[in-house]
Amino acid sequence: MYHCISQRKTGFFLALTAVAAALWIVLTTVTQALAAPETPPEGIALPVVMYHSICPTTNDYQLPASALEEDLRYLKAHGYESVSVQQLLAYTKGKGELPEKPILLTFDDGFYNNLSDALPLLEQYDMQAVVSVVGRYTDEIAPADPEVPAYSYLTWDNVRQLQASGRVEIGSHTYDLHSNTQRAGCSIILGEDPAAYSAMLREDLTHLQTSAYNETGTSPDVFAYPYGFICRESVPVLKELGFVCTLTCREEINGITRDPSCLYGLGRFHRSPKYSTEEFFAKMLGNQTP
Ligand SMILES: [Zn+2]
Repeated sequence: MYHCISQRKTGFFLALTAVAAALWIVLTTVTQALAAPETPPEGIALPVVMYHSICPTTNDYQLPASALEEDLRYLKAHGYESVSVQQLLAYTKGKGELPEKPILLTFDDGFYNNLSDALPLLEQYDMQAVVSVVGRYTDEIAPADPEVPAYSYLTWDNVRQLQASGRVEIGSHTYDLHSNTQRAGCSIILGEDPAAYSAMLREDLTHLQTSAYNETGTSPDVFAYPYGFICRESVPVLKELGFVCTLTCREEINGITRDPSCLYGLGRFHRSPKYSTEEFFAKMLGNQTP
């Protein structure tokens, strides 16, 4: 009897030990996973911020000018220097160096307030930015109701003013694929013929490249994927049309190397008005911030 109880006790104890050991392994693994720093990207760390409309907030894609100013003041105080895509491209080709703490500022959708409200702040804080326009908005929607800071889009005249500032590079946000209905942004539809997709994308992007060239004398060489929907079939078309840098919405820090292909698919952090400047940059820059 005693022997039997002892055996049962021993069995129970062994089972308990096994459970405890298993739990310990799971907990240790989880703790290690939580504590382990993310693998730093190869090359120079480049955070990219994604802004949209700079106006009083009524949705997640609007940020008051006062908050943008707070952001720029924060970046300056923490030693960040904004860079242009041209600077990044030159670096990847082995020319020149990047600042110690580079950052790329981007504005999507081509709002007029990027000129009326963001540009004066970029000048005040000595920063530069990429403004990616949707061709049809600039060609058709903007001229019908121009220069209202709350909602207008940039006209071509406004685009020329941004370019003349020397602080803004114009990017493409497609000519007319900025929707999320049948097609998710500019990505391929499940089952769509890849050749037909490539032809459609080439035609759309070329439309904006041509309009921009006719209106400003230059064509964008930066491309921002609408809604961040990316697909691998888009890449050969973007390369063929001469885009040197593409921007996604994956929230991750990029590594810039001496290889130009590192500018394809850059991650960006959406600047939601839900956060204060400190909260946003703490989330984005993590332990990069001194
Ligand atoms: Zn957009």
